[in-house]
This record gives sequence, C-alpha cells and structure tokens, in this order.
Amino acid sequence: MESDDEDTDINLKKTHYDFPHFQDYYNETGCKKKLVIILQDYESFPCSTLNEFLLILHEYLATLPFVLICGVSTSPSIIHSTLNYDVISTMKIHTFNIQPSIEFLNLITDRIILKNNFPVVLHPSILEFLIDNFLFFDFSVHTFMKGVKICILKHLSMNDVNVLCHSVMNQTLSEEMITKPVLDEINKLDSITNMKCKKLDPTRVVNYATELHNSICTMYCAVQCLYTLVRDLPNNPLGKQLRDIYCAVLSDNHFMESPSFKQCLQLIQFISKQELLEKVENMTHILKQNTNLNTILREVQKIEKEIESADTEVQIKQSSATSKLNLTPKSRAQLKQNLLENIKQDKLQYEFDVKREKFVEYLIANLFKPYLVPIQNLPLHEIVLFKDCHLLKKYLAGAPRAAIHTALNNPSYYFQCDCCKVNDPNEMLPSMPDVCLVYKLHMESATMINMHDWLQSFGTIVNTDNKLSAAAVKARFTQAVSELQFLGFIKNCKQKIDHVTRLTWGDS
Ligand SMILES: [Zn+2]
Repeated sequence: MESDDEDTDINLKKTHYDFPHFQDYYNETGCKKKLVIILQDYESFPCSTLNEFLLILHEYLATLPFVLICGVSTSPSIIHSTLNYDVISTMKIHTFNIQPSIEFLNLITDRIILKNNFPVVLHPSILEFLIDNFLFFDFSVHTFMKGVKICILKHLSMNDVNVLCHSVMNQTLSEEMITKPVLDEINKLDSITNMKCKKLDPTRVVNYATELHNSICTMYCAVQCLYTLVRDLPNNPLGKQLRDIYCAVLSDNHFMESPSFKQCLQLIQFISKQELLEKVENMTHILKQNTNLNTILREVQKIEKEIESADTEVQIKQSSATSKLNLTPKSRAQLKQNLLENIKQDKLQYEFDVKREKFVEYLIANLFKPYLVPIQNLPLHEIVLFKDCHLLKKYLAGAPRAAIHTALNNPSYYFQCDCCKVNDPNEMLPSMPDVCLVYKLHMESATMINMHDWLQSFGTIVNTDNKLSAAAVKARFTQAVSELQFLGFIKNCKQKIDHVTRLTWGDS
C-alpha cells in the first residue's frame, strides 16, 4: 500500500491507522490503481483476525478497490478451513503456484552468480557447499543468498588487495588505485611469486587485471556454450546444471581429458540435425555477448549454414565409389575386413555427420581448449576468487554441540575474560560459572554419577576459603545440576536414587 508521492512529513498517530483515514487519504491522492495487500505468511494469522479484517475490507470495497495476495505454504484448502462462509462468499478466489525454490536457485546461479558482472568469483568448493547447504537443510533461497553475501563481505574485508575486486570485475582499475602498500601486497600474492619474475609495477598489474577479467568473461562464455551443447545428453555425464559444468571446469586442470567429457563427445555423435541446429543457434546468442569471441562467432555461424544445408540421407559419392572399386577380395577374411571398413567409411560419409564432427572439433580446438581454464591458474586471481570454504563453514554450518562444549569447558573463549583463562583444558577455577564447574566434574565421571561425591568436589573448588555456608554451596550446586540436566547432559537414575546418569560421551 505505497504511493509514489508519499509525504513523509505527516506525523501520524497510531489512532490514525484505520480505514476511514486510509480511505480519505486514498481519495485525496486521486489514485485509480488497485491496492495490493500481501499477507506473506497466511497461516501465521489467527482465523478470527483474518475473518474480521476481510469483512472490514469488504465494507470498503466500493471506495478502496483492492487485491489480496495470500502466501500459503500448506495447501489452498486452508483458505476454506480458516475463513467463515460469509467471508468466503464475498471473495473471488484464484489460486496460482510459484516455482519450487530449486528453480529460483538455478536462476540465481545461472543468471547472477555465474556471470562476469557478479562482483566475486566463487570457487567450486564454495558453490558446492552453498548448494549442499540448500539441498540438505531448508531449501531456502533466502539462506543461500545470505551465504553468498557472507562470501562477498568476507572476501572484501579479508585484506587491502581484495578491495580492488570490484574494479577488476568491471574493468575500472587504474594505476592510481594501486598505492605502494597495495602494490607490495599484490607482489606477495602466490600467483605472482609463483611466476618468478621481477616485481610488478602498477602498469603491469593493470594489464594482468585486464587479462584476468577477459579470461573470466571468456571462461563463463565457454562454460555456457559447453552447457548448451551437453545439457540434454542422455544421463547428463557433466551434470544437469550450468554450475555443474562450471565446478567441473574449475576443479580440474585436465578437464578436457576427463572420462565424463569424453563420454559427452561420444554422445554428441547421436545428436540429430534439428537438435544440433538449435544448440548452434543458442550458442551464437551466447557468443554475441562477448566481443573477444567475435572470430569464433563468425566461424560458428559459417558452420551453422553448412550444417543447415548438409544432407542427412545421401552419402558423399566419391569416397564410397573408390572403396567399392578396390573390393577384390582374395579370401573370406579379407572380404569381411573390406566390408567392415566399408561400413566404417559409410558412416562417415553422411554429409551431416562430417559437418557435425567438424563443428565439435572446431569448438574443442578454438573455444573449449583455450578458454575453459581454471582461473586459479591465472596471475592475480586471488583478488577476485573467494575460496575460503573453511571460513564459510564456520559461519554457516553451526556445530551446536561443539559450541556448547567449548562454552562449558572453556568459558573464557566466549566471555573473553581473564579470570577464567586456563592453560590446561581440565583446569577448574572458582571464577568460572557454576554450570561449567559441574560440567567439567561430570566429564571425569563414569556412566553413573554419585550426587554426594559430585557436591563434595564442587564444594572444594568454589569454597576453598570456607567463606560460603554449606547451604549456599548446595543451593548453587543444585541450580547448576538442573541447568546441566536442562542442557541434556544428565538424567535421573532409576536404579539408584542418589545418582544421575550421563547422557553424552566424548570430548568433542
Ligand atoms: Zn571469567
């Protein structure tokens, strides 16, 4: 319910948030557009509130034309089970579905992340981790995007060099931006020291950055072309999604020699003329987006015409004629050999087969081999490539049990206090919270813990100078033990009344 010319100066009180006021406001604006009201999470509203709200809306329908959009996550029948008949009878209901979240994820990876205008290049390990997180936990695109944002933030804040990432990716890097400290950092990058050349100056850094940018653009383009070529092959040897191919290319230095790539080449031999022409057409669209690949585009368009005119029925005459002339077998074995060879030649002799082969060979030699290169082999790639999967896991994949153990075993890890700092993990200090002390003591015991012994041990730590009364120690102990029980580490023991049972094992 937003208006373009919203006046932010008006101070509205809470009592003004009602329909008569809203109606007046709507009439004043002279707006004739429909009002769209979105209830994002329909199920979260109480039925009575919804019924009342809709009845009120209905009263104003003549002056406030509105459309209500309800986000329903269960089934559309929920509308009928939550609303009264008299409310439903006033409504005109249409149902529509949104795509499953995996479709959105595919769109985001294909159209946003795996494009050269995305600010950071994600290493395959990062992308795979984010996708696994999506598939195994919640199917939430929102969480996936949060993960991507963490990647970008962490990459940019990691050091002074990575800040240049955006300038490299949109080709605005200039020599002035490379200050002395940044240049020193750049010269320390692994990709630069590995080249074993003399130290780079700003001009060469800019040149390398331009080369890097071009390589990334052509790499994305080549990945898309390969995807177009192999996406609907039987059993998808290289994967079903664009990102599968991206990951395969970047994780393997010898991707072209991999069995799955070779399998694809074999399967391409069974593509029909119609299918191939569609693929070539799509490929030309992709190639048009990158001016560096103009030569390849022109050649592909030339081959496209040849494929269009190629014959799929008639064999090419001269080669079959010559082979038949030489057919003067001296023995049965030789006759068989000749026939086999003839069949082999015949297969190649369809004009379309020849053109298809020529097309694939051309792509391999001129597009895939030179451009499908892992960018982690290129100088300065560290500036744009985020690959710290360990860091990302730390933020996204929580290990609650490990965190609780750390908190209880070494509270200063989270408190950042000096009073609880320990050198030995088994050390116990009176300054530590009581629950930490009972936790540490319980770690030393067997399956069953004697409450009396436990209390005594607790007392010796917290009451070293005998300043506390026995009742105070007991009270603190009881509270700490019940906290530990609440956390799920112990339970009451049925066999022995003065014992509890441990429920967890191991130190992790
Ligand atoms: Zn402390």
